[in-house]
Amino acid sequence: MAEVESILGHAWDDITSLRKRFSQLYIAVEQSPVATAITDLKGRIEFVNQRFLDVTGYSREELIGQTPAMIQSGETPSEVYRDLWQTLRAGRVWQGELLNRRKSGELYWEAEVITPVRNDEGDVVNFVAVKEDITERKRQENELKLMATAFETGQATLITDAEMRIERANQAFTDITGYREHEVLGKTPRIFKSGRHSADFYAELWEDLLSTGHWQGEIWNRNKYGDIYPLWQSITAVCDDAGRVRNFVSVFHNIAERKRMESELERQATLDHLTGAYNRRAFDDALREAVLRAELSDETFSLLIFDIDHFKQVNDRHGHDTGDAILKQLADRVAGNLRSTDILSRWGGEEFTILLPDTRLRGTRTFAERLRGQIAESRLHGLRITLSMGITEYRLGDDMDSMLARADEALYRAKSAGRNCVVADECAVADEGVMTDETARH
Ligand code: GH3
Ligand code: MG
Ligand code: MG
Repeated sequence: MAEVESILGHAWDDITSLRKRFSQLYIAVEQSPVATAITDLKGRIEFVNQRFLDVTGYSREELIGQTPAMIQSGETPSEVYRDLWQTLRAGRVWQGELLNRRKSGELYWEAEVITPVRNDEGDVVNFVAVKEDITERKRQENELKLMATAFETGQATLITDAEMRIERANQAFTDITGYREHEVLGKTPRIFKSGRHSADFYAELWEDLLSTGHWQGEIWNRNKYGDIYPLWQSITAVCDDAGRVRNFVSVFHNIAERKRMESELERQATLDHLTGAYNRRAFDDALREAVLRAELSDETFSLLIFDIDHFKQVNDRHGHDTGDAILKQLADRVAGNLRSTDILSRWGGEEFTILLPDTRLRGTRTFAERLRGQIAESRLHGLRITLSMGITEYRLGDDMDSMLARADEALYRAKSAGRNCVVADECAVADEGVMTDETARH
């Protein structure tokens, strides 16, 4: 009897401890932060823990007896499920990622491990699925992928560490600099220095960058092949949570073409479109500058104005287009007689000016006479054209207007004197008589 009692007592103890263990396990699973489900062999849900309910939004009553099809989104490829069932039927553990749908309709990603559970005889009797919500990780992965694509396809970009050692460079960087990423890793952007900027330039750049976290501007760099080219570059310091600089990100593009176009546009803006000579605005600038230079040094210069004789008649008899063609040809002929430093402009209509740097009046007169004679003897567009010319030389106290007025007055007298001649302004003529150290340039 005592034996029986002892046996019963043992059994009782066993049941009590078993129940205790079961309840411990139950609590552990129920309160686990990992969503857990137990299904039968057909996949019908027998148990879900609290986390599973939280994640899916369903109640226990709604889930028990159902299959996980309830939370399938329809967005996971069917091969994934095929593989899942094949693996489980073979008695193996399946691991994978599923895109599921909460009761609210919201999609979420799960990393899932499904384990077949065997009884003492070794037969599979249940499946236990534990799932981790990886929506955030997936989102970050996608974001990273997106950033990587943007990085590779975007503007030329260079990422360095805080010591300016290059950590990343993209395809556009290679396109511009000629360097492939692996050739520059670990180096500093000093390898791109063109030698065009002073130490002060870089010192200022660094001061801006470190004080404001940003710098942008034009910078000349040297590419792998030694060519120097202008860039528009923007550098940003990237700091960690503690405010320490971790990286510098530099984004740039080549502005050589833009600069070339800008300077071509600038050049075009100084030219007269019909003749290709400088326009009046450009000439006035050059004349003003020459006056300034002459004031500051003992350099001198001369000014010549010429006007086509009876040009109105040419237009009237042969038409405006012929007149235009003559203006073009005349400008070409005159330009052919100039030094590279002389400046020819179409000052208006059929009136031209020439600025002759470093030239005294006598030299200008010789040059003007030769030019006048050459034009008078030639034919422009088959017609005989003559020019009247007024010349003057810079005098102390002159400004642009006083010089132009004197040259214009001389031109007027050339017209009065019967045209096809060169006349110097009156003051200059008076001076010419006493000049001894004349250095004629023409
Ligand atoms: P002169 O100078 O000898 O006193 O006589 P002119 O007939 O040349 O008189 P003026 O210089 O005053 O006349 C300017 C003429 O030049 C008026 C116009 O018919 C002509 N002209 C001015 N600009 C242009 C132009 O762009 N194209 C053409 N075809 N003719 C022009
Ligand atoms: Mg005229
Ligand atoms: Mg005129």
